[in-house]
Amino acid sequence: SAKEQGRNAYCLFEPSMNRGAHEELALTQDLRRALGHDEFSLHYQPKLRAPAGPLTGVEALLRWHHPEQGMVMPDRFIPLAEKTGLILEIGRWVINEACRQLAQWRAQGIEIPSVSVNLSATQFRSPGLFGKISTALSAHAVPASSLVLEITESTAMHDPEASLAILQRLADLGVGISIDDFGTGYSSLLYLKRLPASELKIDRAFVRDLVAGGEDAAIVSAIIALGRTLNLTVIAEGVETEAQQHLLTELGCTSLQGFHLGRPCPPTEFAARLA
Ligand code: C2E
Ligand code: MG
Ligand code: MG
Ligand code: MG
Repeated sequence: SAKEQGRNAYCLFEPSMNRGAHEELALTQDLRRALGHDEFSLHYQPKLRAPAGPLTGVEALLRWHHPEQGMVMPDRFIPLAEKTGLILEIGRWVINEACRQLAQWRAQGIEIPSVSVNLSATQFRSPGLFGKISTALSAHAVPASSLVLEITESTAMHDPEASLAILQRLADLGVGISIDDFGTGYSSLLYLKRLPASELKIDRAFVRDLVAGGEDAAIVSAIIALGRTLNLTVIAEGVETEAQQHLLTELGCTSLQGFHLGRPCPPTEFAARLA
């Protein structure tokens, strides 16, 4: 019977679900202490004008150095931080640290045009966001135009009218707006036209299997044409090969980012690579 099947399924899956839930709970508890214990750092990945430079900016990517587990990647802990609301405090740290690092580089004579910071949905919709950004900018005397905020297409299109209002306030501050993971959400072109964005970032799903004349190449071309029409910089993420680098450039992509052009790394290593 269905009931029996249900019971079987329960017996089969309960132990592993339990373990998963347990791990998640333990990790969440560790996450609560991570900020106070200085366990976060930012890695930086270059964004280059196609095909091979100069540098147009860097993206800051959060890393968690867990005392027992070593480096934990954001895909594992950002969802927990979102669920618990911890993302707001962590996000404040990220914005401030990215501005601090940019100011430090500039004081050392290292030319970095801009730093991009990722915002998750909760951060984007939190009323404290504008204050956190202006506080970080002024604390480190970083001009607003040197900061770019990356929000995913899905976040931007979730409640387009509300997003539009938030993005307008951010644009009024003078920061750049990048629409991340573009092509995987469901954009209303009507709203996209009205968004005060400066950059579209093509999701790496379209770059991974890119070949000349293929379906992904057609999609990439369409996104590039859209970006041109709307006067936006179009950057491709996840560029892992020279072939992708060349094809994206040929298709008219303005900027590139990916392991082939530079892996994310700690700030000292980043500066050493630039020199
Ligand atoms: P994202 O913003 O789309 O960042 C790009 C991700 O792709 C990064 O993973 C980056 O290391 C990785 N990547 C870069 N080049 C390549 C490549 O050539 N090939 C492949 N396979 N991957 C590449 P990461 O650092 O693990 O971050 C994953 C996601 O976590 C980010 O996606 C972003 O959504 C989120 N995230 C990272 N840092 C933060 C943060 O400070 N705050 C928030 N809210 N989210 C963050
Ligand atoms: Mg990003
Ligand atoms: Mg992305
Ligand atoms: Mg992503």
